[in-house]
Amino acid sequence: MSDCIFCKIAAGEIPSNKVYEDDQCLAFYDLSPQAPVHFLVIPKTHIPSAAAVDSSNSAVVGHIYEVIAKVAGQLGLDKGFRVVTNCGEEGGQTVGHLHFHVLAGRSLAWPPG
Ligand code: AMP
Ligand code: ZN
Repeated sequence: MSDCIFCKIAAGEIPSNKVYEDDQCLAFYDLSPQAPVHFLVIPKTHIPSAAAVDSSNSAVVGHIYEVIAKVAGQLGLDKGFRVVTNCGEEGGQTVGHLHFHVLAGRSLAWPPG
């Protein structure tokens, strides 16, 4: 999608601090970290949100969870981490391209606000 910031990051048109990349997804550090480790994993294809995941595009979600486990291992996040997907206005989504926050490096409170 031409006006989507995460599509532009996936295409390399906007720079990012990359953690991992393959043909299906990209992981990069969040500009506004909410924990000592905070990166995002996005599909390279434009999926607007978790509400738009269906049988035509869900394979990349499983792939992204494999990538999260691999990158978490590489970064030594052995004390644990949290994966968050905000969806829609009340879910706190601000960028309309599916993304998975991975947060680690401190004890994370539950429930979220
Ligand atoms: P959400 O609010 O759940 O939609 O998450 C969007 C996230 O994208 C926020 O945590 C932002 O800090 C992050 N973000 C926005 N623009 C960029 C960017 N250019 N590079 C890295 N992270 C970004
Ligand atoms: Zn997009």
